Parts: sequence; structure tokens; C-alpha cells
Amino acid sequence: NKQVILRDYVMGGFPKESDFEFKTSKIRLNVAQGSKSVVLKNLYLSCDPYMRNRMTNSTGSYVAPFTPGSPIIGRGVAKVIDSGHPNYKKGDLVWGMTRWEEYSLITEPETLYKIEDTDVPLSYYTGILGMPSLTAYAGFYEVGSPKEGEYVFVSAASGAVGQLVGQFAKLKNCYVVGSAGSKEKVDLLKDKFGFDEAFNYKEEHDLDKALKRCLPDGIDIYFENVGGKMLDVVLLNMRLHGRIPVCGMISQYNLEEQEGAHNLFCLITKRVRMEGFLVSDYFPMYPKYRNMVLPLIREGKITYVEDIAEGLENAPAALIGLFSGRNIGKQRERERAG
Ligand code: NDP
Repeated sequence: NKQVILRDYVMGGFPKESDFEFKTSKIRLNVAQGSKSVVLKNLYLSCDPYMRNRMTNSTGSYVAPFTPGSPIIGRGVAKVIDSGHPNYKKGDLVWGMTRWEEYSLITEPETLYKIEDTDVPLSYYTGILGMPSLTAYAGFYEVGSPKEGEYVFVSAASGAVGQLVGQFAKLKNCYVVGSAGSKEKVDLLKDKFGFDEAFNYKEEHDLDKALKRCLPDGIDIYFENVGGKMLDVVLLNMRLHGRIPVCGMISQYNLEEQEGAHNLFCLITKRVRMEGFLVSDYFPMYPKYRNMVLPLIREGKITYVEDIAEGLENAPAALIGLFSGRNIGKQRERERAG
């Protein structure tokens, strides 16, 4: 059973491929009699920015650290190879928490969701039908409280979460602008996801000017994915009674010291509501979300771009690549058959 192992905690700076190693171990492919466990064959493994936080041994995080010497834990799509649990049977397809290895023995399978709808790509359960999409849905609709015609700005807009926030905002008849880190991504935002305007934040010398150019009347909803300088200039451009759903701050995850915001006083003068949220609080909404999005996918009213790394040996580079913007769309790894 080939596995991807975290060598040791990475306390500061960008993670490197040498922080991971590959091991091969033995695994029984059937469950012990009377056990409530399942054995999974992993098919797709998701690479997500929050996994960086689990690579440190910090106490301030909302998720427990990984254990050095053990396989990376993450969400994925898998097939049940054997089951002692009454809710799962051999051959079932599931998505949920698994590990970066070919086969996984899951002793508490209650957190796995059974996949009933298989007319869409299975990999979608790491993205548009999985955790990142629920994040976009909860953050935009529940925290953002959007109204028709509002001005919406999304950072890291071409990623797993951002591409959906933009499309949800268009479905709500908002005016949507996104920022991303390359021309290719900016084109994708406008041509594929229907953003009204987009800019490459790496090429703008003055982010405030870029925002004023694209959103001259200001921003009602800023869907925050990056933090740092972007948040600071967005604060200057918020409209009265605007909302900032704080989803993530990826520009800060590898810094030894967090950057401070200088323009927080705008929250008071513009009466802006800035609210952090965690997708884990919204999992009870998943069935409602799935019922909303499946018809949109089937009717081609919503689209999803994925970035595939082939084979477990390429998974560490794919995860690290999230922090330099290497991925275009949702990053995931595909297990080779066999
Ligand atoms: P993405 O697929 O968007 O991948 C990360 C992207 O972030 C990169 O492609 C890159 O795009 C951008 N990025 C990387 N470093 C920087 C930087 N220093 N400054 C600006 N942009 C940067 O990831 P997700 O869509 O999965 O996640 C987006 C955000 O949502 C993250 O902050 C994540 O932590 C957060 N999140 C929060 C959840 C919650 O429950 N609150 C749940 C899931 C995700 P580019 O080329 O455009 O720079």
C-alpha cells in the first residue's frame, strides 16, 4: 500500500517536496469480523489550502495537526472494497475523509457520504459536489446575504471555491469582478465563468486603482480568500452596509508573522459586516446544496474547472503548488488504476 507521509512539522515558510516521503506498507483488504470499519480504494484525493495548517504543530488552528510519520489525511473519493458497517457495502462509492494512500482502513466511516449520483464526473465530489463548493455556497448565500444587482468582488477567483462564488453571484444577477494570478486565469474568469470583469493582481502596481477601475461604484460583497494587502485595499472600496465573508487568507499561511490590516476603521464608517466562517458548520446544508447544484450542472448552467495531478507521487507538488498559484481550478490527484 503506497502512502504519502509527512516527514516532520513545517512550522514556517513554504512547504517543500522534501517535507513528504513515500512509504509502502502492508494492508489487509478485508475487514475483521464484527468490525464496523470499511476498506477503501482511493480514487481521487483532494489538495486543499487548509492542509498547510495541519502541517504545523500550532495550537491556534481549527483542525488537529497531521502526525509526522503517518499518511496525510484529506478528503477524497473512494470505492468500498470491504465493509463491516451496516451503512456501506462492497462496491459503494463514497466521498469524505480518507488518507493519501492507495487503500485506507477507515474505522469511523460515519463521516463518509455515499455517492448516489454518478452521471457527473466522480472527481466533482472533491470540488463542485464536495467541500469547496459547500464553502462557496455557505459563504456567499448565508454569510454574504447577497441581493440582486449588488457589486461582488472575489479574490483567488479561479480556484476551487472562487470560480463557484463568481457563478453563484452571476445567477443572483450581481455584477462580479475577480482577481487571479495570471492572464490565463483572468481569461478563464471572463470567458468561462462569466465574470463581468477580472484583473491579474500580480501585474497591478496599484491594487486600489485596479479595484476602482473595475468597480467604480464600490463593493457590496467581498468574498475574501487571500487576506493581506488585498483585504486592506478592499476595505477602502467597500460600500455602505457591505459584507465581507472571510473564507480564507492564503497569502498569510506560509508567513512567519501575519500582515496587519491598516484600514479596519472603514468597517465602522461604512457599517460593513466582516464575518469569518468554517464550512464544517454548514455540512447539514449539504443535501440542500446538492439538490440545488446538480440540475445546474446537468443543464450546463454552471461549470467547473479541475486541475489533475496523476498518481500519488505527484500529490505533494500539487499541494505545494496551491501556494504559488500553479493550479488552474480545483486541484486534485487521480489514482492510477491497478
Ligand atoms: P484554490 O483552488 O483557489 O487554490 C489556491 C489559490 O490561491 C492559488 O491557485 C493562487 O491563485 C491563490 N494564491 C496562492 N497564494 C496566494 C497569495 N500569496 N496571494 C494571493 N493569492 C494566492 O484554493 P481553494 O479555492 O480551495 O481555497 C480558497 C480559499 O478558501 C483559501 O484561502 C482556503 O484556505 C479557503 N477555504 C476556507 C474554507 C472555510 O471553511 N473557511 C474551506 C475551504 C477553503 P492565483 O494564481 O490567483 O494567485
